[in-house]
Amino acid sequence: MTKPPLTLYLAAPRGFCAGVDRAIKIVEMALEKWGPPVYVRHEIVHNKFVVDGLREKGAVFVEELDECPVDRPVIFSAHGVPKSVPEEAKRREMIYVDATCPLVSKVHLEAARHHENGKQIVMIGHRGHPETIGTMGQLPEGEVLLIETAEEVAGLTPRDPDQLAYITQTTLSIDDTAGVVKALEARFPNIEGPHKEDICYATTNRQGAVKALAPKVQAILVIGAPNSSNSRRLVEVGAAAGCQYSQLVQRATDIDWRALEGCSAVGLTAGASAPDVLVDEVVQAFADRFDLTVEPVVTATESIEFRLPRIVREPA
Ligand code: SF4
Repeated sequence: MTKPPLTLYLAAPRGFCAGVDRAIKIVEMALEKWGPPVYVRHEIVHNKFVVDGLREKGAVFVEELDECPVDRPVIFSAHGVPKSVPEEAKRREMIYVDATCPLVSKVHLEAARHHENGKQIVMIGHRGHPETIGTMGQLPEGEVLLIETAEEVAGLTPRDPDQLAYITQTTLSIDDTAGVVKALEARFPNIEGPHKEDICYATTNRQGAVKALAPKVQAILVIGAPNSSNSRRLVEVGAAAGCQYSQLVQRATDIDWRALEGCSAVGLTAGASAPDVLVDEVVQAFADRFDLTVEPVVTATESIEFRLPRIVREPA
């Protein structure tokens, strides 16, 4: 049987970012240094394939510090943790390694600087996401007010409307966030913003590539976990840029092929926590079903690498 023709537009950049790469290396190096088990508080990055692979090597994933024995090392995930978490680890005299992405730590420092300058902070982010919880947890309760949408700006009741600053989660939609910032600036003209965008380079670049391929395709596939904020934003960005149909899939077996019947052009990208091996798997699944042409859509190149913490680099 002849296969139908299909062009797969492959977004670049896509997949792993420098913060995810560093966090995974930290767990691997910790396992080498201290031997298993090494405990990890929360999924190190939001990807089941990555988490399962590390689990097989001896990582134990828990949600809270009190689930870890005091005599084993614990690693904090790339999303960041409230200040109380390392404080508690210190109090319990545990070995801990902080795998918070340096670009999330930058937002933590920014929040602390605004607080020292007497400002109350508005954080634009998603309720319940570990990064938001970690960033808000850098300051005492009430010092960071959380909003998700422009509509929520009207409901804010700050201490002093002239002493405000805003920060954002690193993985938000660039365009939606611009709308929220506009609403904040309209209501609080003296609100201070970040010196440099909090939405990180990886989020920006992955959204840029999806925007470029969206008008060329009838469907977009995003490889990513349902709890991965940046992956879910890629689905939304694709829709806003003109491709109404998307699937968020964890791997090739999740693809709804019937929904892709009749498509001649499909876009493929991967969230910042999805490894390239899963992209290869999906491309192969398309090649098995279609007379496939793969067309890269390159909108940026990336060369960022983050240094690993000394504690995992030093011998035991
Ligand atoms: Fe860091 Fe951005 Fe990657 Fe998050 S998505 S880990 S902030 S580089």
